[in-house]
Amino acid sequence: MSDAPNKAVVAFGSNMGDRIATIEAALAAMKDKNLNVVKLSSLYETKPMYYDDQDPFLNGVCQIETTLEPLPLLDVLQSIENELGRKRIIDKGPRTIDLDIILYNQEHIKHPRLEVPHKLMLEREFVLRPLADFTPSAAHRPIYQFLQALPEMDSSMSPVTVLHQQMPLIRSHDSARKTHVMAILNLTPDSFSDGGVHSQKDLETIMATARNFIAAGADIIDIGGQSTRPRAEYLSAEEELRRILPVVKAIRSMEEANDVALSIDTFHSKVARETILAGADIINDVSAGVRDKDMLATVAELGKTIILMHMRGDAHTMMKLTDYPEGVLKGVAEELSERVQAARAAGILPWHIILDPGLGFAKNQQQNLELLRRLRELRDDTENSAWLKNHPWLTGPSRKGFVGKVTEVEEASKRSYGTAAAVTASIEGGAEIVRIHDVSGMVQVTKMADAIYRSP
Ligand code: ADP
Ligand code: MG
Repeated sequence: MSDAPNKAVVAFGSNMGDRIATIEAALAAMKDKNLNVVKLSSLYETKPMYYDDQDPFLNGVCQIETTLEPLPLLDVLQSIENELGRKRIIDKGPRTIDLDIILYNQEHIKHPRLEVPHKLMLEREFVLRPLADFTPSAAHRPIYQFLQALPEMDSSMSPVTVLHQQMPLIRSHDSARKTHVMAILNLTPDSFSDGGVHSQKDLETIMATARNFIAAGADIIDIGGQSTRPRAEYLSAEEELRRILPVVKAIRSMEEANDVALSIDTFHSKVARETILAGADIINDVSAGVRDKDMLATVAELGKTIILMHMRGDAHTMMKLTDYPEGVLKGVAEELSERVQAARAAGILPWHIILDPGLGFAKNQQQNLELLRRLRELRDDTENSAWLKNHPWLTGPSRKGFVGKVTEVEEASKRSYGTAAAVTASIEGGAEIVRIHDVSGMVQVTKMADAIYRSP
């Protein structure tokens, strides 16, 4: 047997139990058994084929490098299926995990236990669609040509993203998806719009605020210990933790918050680690992992979801960094796709990445408006689509300066109507999440915009 690694494509699927947890455990087990995952598709939710009366599947594919020959590779994959308690009730019916060898180098194998290329792959959209996510090598040119000819994806299938275990997955290709409302809970004395409102209060009062947010319809609560507004002073990780950790623990212990995701607005990896261990689900890093070199690896290790926001420079320099030679859309797409690549290289799974164009961060007035006006084009950007496609988008226009400028409202807390228009534009442009301050008002706005724009 040669040491040169063989390239194989393995398809995975699950439609029983905690599907995400099982698939992630299977990927971890593959790594433990020296199967080196070098490419990974998005995760797709698909309607069952062959046998209709079963729950939807999650499907994906990965390319691996291995020194194993095909049959020993099949043995390893089947041992992982068994370790993960694979149950199969009927043929082609529900299963906790299925790991199939789709391709092995360029080989054609016909053995009683193994047929490669997998004999049903060309009729299985749930294999072909994920396979099209990574450019197959020249070795698989006939298949590549087949993939190029795939028709537009219909709504029976959608890439998914995890918010937290108890919550339904975000289905970013589902035209009837509901917009998620992320409520901002600032624990800062100096935030631009509500600074000081919460920080002086005791924990009970903050919990009451969170309770009100949830009752008003918030899906995500975004907890922040420091302001990122232009010219804000930076806090140490320790000071930030002192402000927010007790709040994370308190909210996570509330029963009402069981099916609400907690997101932490931070660029410190230490804050990310401590708050995730205390029950946070999402890290919302305005620097997209640039400020703290350990951030991406920390989120990857702890298996949580990250929001990658586009910005340039820092709170002191960003207002001058608004030069986009090829236009703001292309600039944001390119720079965000670099951050997605960094996040993927650090081991963050594709279904744990949310994107944010960063309204108000290193953008001038016209650029902020253009991003909102052309959000759909940004989502569908074809040049950078290899890295950007399939991820949900979040926008954060709430009470920002560009809204105040248009509406001529000086006081940030009085910019709700302008914010409502920007939220509506976000939803028209396809955003899955809006980050806002006025929860009950903006829940009404998202409901109305959903009724208009998210048709089944
Ligand atoms: P499914 O066909 O739905 O994947 P199983 O995972 O139970 O169902 O597979 C049934 C049999 O298919 C296994 O015993 C395995 O030996 C055989 N098999 C044939 N070709 C392949 C392949 N390319 N990858 C995985 N299993 C295969
Ligand atoms: Mg199988």
